Amino acid sequence: MAIKLGSISGIPLYLDYSWFIIFALIAYTVGFGLMPVSYPNLPWVEYLSIGLLSAILLFVSIVIHELAHSIVAKNNGLKIAKITLYLLGGVSEMSEEPPTASLELKMSAAGPLTSIAIAIICLFGWIASVSIHAPVLVQGPLQYAFYVNALVAGFNLIPAFPMDGGRILRALIWRGNNDVMRSTRIASSVGRIFAYIFMFVGIFYLFFIDIFDGLWLLLIGWFVSSGASSELNQMIVKRDLSGLKAGDVMTRAVDSVSPDTTLTELSSKFLEDKHNGFPVMGNDGKILGCVTMEDMRKTKKSLRDTTLVKDIMTPREKLVTVKSDDPAELAVNLMSKNRIGRVFVVESEDGKLSGLITRSDIMKTIQVQESILGTSKAGAERQRSISVEKGMMFEIDCPVVRGLTWSATFNTGEFTLVSQNVVQLSGGGQSTQFTFEALQKGRFSITLSPTVASGSKELSSRESIRYSIVVT
Ligand SMILES: [Zn+2]
Repeated sequence: MAIKLGSISGIPLYLDYSWFIIFALIAYTVGFGLMPVSYPNLPWVEYLSIGLLSAILLFVSIVIHELAHSIVAKNNGLKIAKITLYLLGGVSEMSEEPPTASLELKMSAAGPLTSIAIAIICLFGWIASVSIHAPVLVQGPLQYAFYVNALVAGFNLIPAFPMDGGRILRALIWRGNNDVMRSTRIASSVGRIFAYIFMFVGIFYLFFIDIFDGLWLLLIGWFVSSGASSELNQMIVKRDLSGLKAGDVMTRAVDSVSPDTTLTELSSKFLEDKHNGFPVMGNDGKILGCVTMEDMRKTKKSLRDTTLVKDIMTPREKLVTVKSDDPAELAVNLMSKNRIGRVFVVESEDGKLSGLITRSDIMKTIQVQESILGTSKAGAERQRSISVEKGMMFEIDCPVVRGLTWSATFNTGEFTLVSQNVVQLSGGGQSTQFTFEALQKGRFSITLSPTVASGSKELSSRESIRYSIVVT
């Protein structure tokens, strides 16, 4: 949950609600915890002012820190969707991931380096203000701004993905192994370990040392652990949909209604078909709009016999659509950006509706991809096990991703490849299907490897799948 504050050089700036708690916590900790130690016997109004000023300084410091990330990203041609400020840092949401390890390294280092620079400037400012005996209201916040920027730099450099330190770690691993997925997984695991350490130490502090410090550590641990897994999930969605087009994941046969349907008829259609909405189609197969159960509810029951679908539908211009050869990922991005559950697949040339992509279409695709490519556990991944009887025919298959076919490697004494076909899947898309005959009893393996088109970077991340076959 976040509120929009405004935008800086074209980048929308959001503030997470947790920040209000942080703001109060900082103002209190600094004003009534830290300051009385350095500057005793001041009136409480002064402590409060220093506290509030310090919280504002923290806020400004984090904004500058995040802007540093964004500016490096922008200068390298990446789009920044928005910046959201969380407790001791923020997240610059990129519309796209950095394409190379070295750019990721530059981008993620920019924030902490900026915080270190601000810390050094404030340190000198503080020393100067002390030497000229400036009022406490100047000394105090400068001192705190020095501390807090050093803290923000240090905190963000903890190698816990998705914080900057974790991103730096990922970039370094990525540069070494050239595999962004694997690097993300390693960096996420390291991040989770750090999160548990924070929470463990936090609980210890909570009970035995200081409730306040304990709460801080718990908060940080929770933040890191939730960030690490959501970032990994995004990567998984990205990877599983990579190379797939909207047309590969959409549902083709879509129920529709005509614009002249009355709302009474529509309401019984909702009951029958159990959909939440229908595309509205003309006789020529072109989509005219979309009507949902919610649209219908806005019309009084007494008027439903005389009101037509075309009077209440969301018109074509306002629908979120993709073309069938757009990347499938675009559909997911549009859904989350617009907070909607469905995207229409419409052909640009003739405006005809080819299909519909819903969240469940995406989930199904990911499940299919996961069951084949397996990501959940390292080591066990990309391995499947099958039991067959000797002399029996059996099939194994792999989805055909754009330009990618599969070839099978096996021992000819153990299996015969009876056939290899590309088959149409019921949900759209294609699959390469191998039919084998088992010749001997025992435990053998068949490896399916992607036949990578030369120089195709996108597909080189797809690894071979090893099937372990038990013949009885
Ligand atoms: Zn940062």
